[in-house]
Amino acid sequence: ADTALRRAKEMGGRQSVFFDEAMGATVAQRFAIEQALRRALGAQELRLYLQPQTDATGRWRAAEALVRWQHPTQGLVPPAAFVPVAEDCDLIAPLGAWVLEATCAELGRLARAGCRLPIAVNVSPRQFHRPHFVDEVLTALRRHGAEPADLVLEVTEGVVVDDVDAVVERMRALTSEGVRFSIDDFGTGYSSLSYLRRLPIHEIKIDRSFVQDAPRDAGSAALVEAIIAVAERLRLRVVAEGVETPEHAAYFARWPHVLQQGYLHGLPEPAAAVLARWLADECPGGAANGAR
Ligand code: C2E
Ligand code: MG
Ligand code: MG
Ligand code: MG
Repeated sequence: ADTALRRAKEMGGRQSVFFDEAMGATVAQRFAIEQALRRALGAQELRLYLQPQTDATGRWRAAEALVRWQHPTQGLVPPAAFVPVAEDCDLIAPLGAWVLEATCAELGRLARAGCRLPIAVNVSPRQFHRPHFVDEVLTALRRHGAEPADLVLEVTEGVVVDDVDAVVERMRALTSEGVRFSIDDFGTGYSSLSYLRRLPIHEIKIDRSFVQDAPRDAGSAALVEAIIAVAERLRLRVVAEGVETPEHAAYFARWPHVLQQGYLHGLPEPAAAVLARWLADECPGGAANGAR
């Protein structure tokens, strides 16, 4: 959050002469980021990064798409510095569409190479609730020849605002086509366990705060074990987020079917490079097929 703020300040630097610190700062900085992001979308400055989700042995089972902004002077800007701003203005629509397109393009290339790796995309509540969201997703999949079952949409509990039935209906419009849903940062929202039964989801991602504390903190361990037990009964896949140390990995290795995602197994890296490497290592025929 500090980095995000610092970057926001740097970007809002020129405007900062015109307001006094306390309140105006945020508004003007946000406005500066908004303007810069609007330009960035046209200037092709967004980048798709991928981070692996592995089994307990470190073998890739899936990946998460994480957007970055390659700013001409600020360098690589993390999503925390601009996704929240995009959510507050209209820019989450084009930003979200860009990420979906870029991800489906990679999925299409993998499919043509005869190699499959599910890729998860973060969908913000604002984006999910836009009128044409379902169409957007299905169109992107078709345009790139991507397999719907390889697209995982990560939503947070915040996606359920008031009308659960409307959310369920919208999710079903996509799951009936094969697309899968995952609940991100599970345990941090106003978690209602009943959502797990009501929403047509395929996967839960245990928030990294629980994951990182679990090996040493009995309370976190209790939560983690309860989440995994519930997921097993509901036949949901589980991903542990933020696996940073061998200790975290060893803790989760007792559940071989729980996927692990974190810096220990792989940092987020540019999608094209990381998939070329994965193809060469895991699907040599695919790489030879000229997936790219
Ligand atoms: P998230 O979806 O929970 O993504 C996981 C975040 O944890 C990523 O941060 C990832 O780099 C980071 N991470 C992975 N492994 C570790 C680890 O071992 N330790 C620690 N400390 N962190 C780890 P990132 O890429 O900065 O993204 C932050 C958030 O921004 C994401 O959280 C997601 O909510 C949002 N975001 C990223 N890309 C997109 C996007 O394309 N669309 C939308 N709407 N949101 C996005
Ligand atoms: Mg996520
Ligand atoms: Mg998240
Ligand atoms: Mg998360």
